[in-house]
Amino acid sequence: MPREIRFLNTASRRVETLDPLEKGHVRMYTCGPTVYNFPHIGNYRTFLFEDILRRTLKSFGYRVTQVMNLTDIDDKTIKGAAAEGISLREFTDRYVAAFFEDLDTLGVERAEHYPRATEWIPQMVKLVQRLNERGHTYVQDGSTYFRIATFPGYGKLSGIDVAQVRAGTRVDADEYEKEDVRDFVLWKAPKEGEPSWDTPLGPGRPGWHLECSAMSMGLLGESFDIHTGGVDNIFPHHENEIAQSEGATGAPFVRLWLHAEHLFVEGQKMAKSLGNFYTLRDLLEKGHDPLAIRYLLISVPYRQKLNFTSDGMHAAAAGIERIRNTMRRLAHTPPAAGEGSLPATAVGEFEAEFDAGLADDLNTARALAALHTLLTAVNQALDAGGIGAAARPLVDAALARVDAVLGIVPRVDTVHTSGVTATAGVGVVTASDTPAEQAEIESLIAERVAARAARDFARADEIRKELAERGIVLEDTPHGTVWHRTS
Ligand SMILES: [Zn+2]
Repeated sequence: MPREIRFLNTASRRVETLDPLEKGHVRMYTCGPTVYNFPHIGNYRTFLFEDILRRTLKSFGYRVTQVMNLTDIDDKTIKGAAAEGISLREFTDRYVAAFFEDLDTLGVERAEHYPRATEWIPQMVKLVQRLNERGHTYVQDGSTYFRIATFPGYGKLSGIDVAQVRAGTRVDADEYEKEDVRDFVLWKAPKEGEPSWDTPLGPGRPGWHLECSAMSMGLLGESFDIHTGGVDNIFPHHENEIAQSEGATGAPFVRLWLHAEHLFVEGQKMAKSLGNFYTLRDLLEKGHDPLAIRYLLISVPYRQKLNFTSDGMHAAAAGIERIRNTMRRLAHTPPAAGEGSLPATAVGEFEAEFDAGLADDLNTARALAALHTLLTAVNQALDAGGIGAAARPLVDAALARVDAVLGIVPRVDTVHTSGVTATAGVGVVTASDTPAEQAEIESLIAERVAARAARDFARADEIRKELAERGIVLEDTPHGTVWHRTS
């Protein structure tokens, strides 16, 4: 039996328990990128929320089918390709590749399906034909529009007031504001310099909103469990998706609507004009660790605004370093004889709190706090009598679970135990260490151990400094001296 999980549903404005239409199988649609540029970190905040959602559901015992579309035809992609004088496909291929590279950098799990809008034109045309048959459309100057007055539920998701809308006023742009609520375009008449398909609706190309309705229902069925996006998508995009889908099928489109809040940078809305607009690549160029970026972007529950600051970036890096240090200490510390010093309830309490946080509308802040409480207990036990052989696998399993759900546990390199002396080094060997370098490092560590034993602290400090200059950090633990490379 999958574990219970609750979400705040944008549509009902209430907390609801997930109850998949098909037992144990969650079908979800996540609005993907418009592939005309490098997404900014606010976009990645949303994609990471969806990654945490998917990983949590799997960890709670659900099977997940996730669809993320790639919008490769809309006003913005057409404009971008035209500006460079290349084909739409050549232009969008570049940004599709960059998007997947970014997902890998951030450790985002792949969805089951990544449909490209240009490969779903026949299904989109069919959807418009169904809307025609049910009286929801009209044609003006070769374009087909959705008449919102024919769909009484229009406005329910976003809470807009449709009473003020003047019947028969239209909007052709893919993106527009709430003040502009009007009949929206389903199929656009051909324009000079724009790609166009010959279809039973006449020549032209799809509007952006139509794409998501056709691809989601095509891959997940006419009704499915979860639809997500950023709060920016609520109006008009998701409002229009509901109208198109339910208008065509007469069935409920989606059960739960989940929306990630905005990201601010140093308290301000990101804007190119303010110089605070960051893509993932900008942050990597500044030298930030992708794991720390991921940590920061998931650290605030998705329904709350996230303020991305340089202090926050440092705190996230420190959080990652704390996990890494604990993993290192665990890797090079043999199990304690007997029970050890870790309280018997520590891992169980962690698990209960971690799961309770996630089950509460993906409260990642609470899940992270549970992790840090566990790390404190583990480090205190390592400082004292160590962790017993029976408790050790439980700790390992808990950290593996954190990694499966949050994806923030750094890899710790193979641990190498020195044979020089009983108390000398245990090192973290990296690929760049040649056997000769290792031997040299270990002989210096052995010399330092001997110097300390002889109370020659001046020589011991000298060796520590010499190694530090070579990027090697020593840690003295109850189990001997441990070393690893910085960087
Ligand atoms: Zn969409």
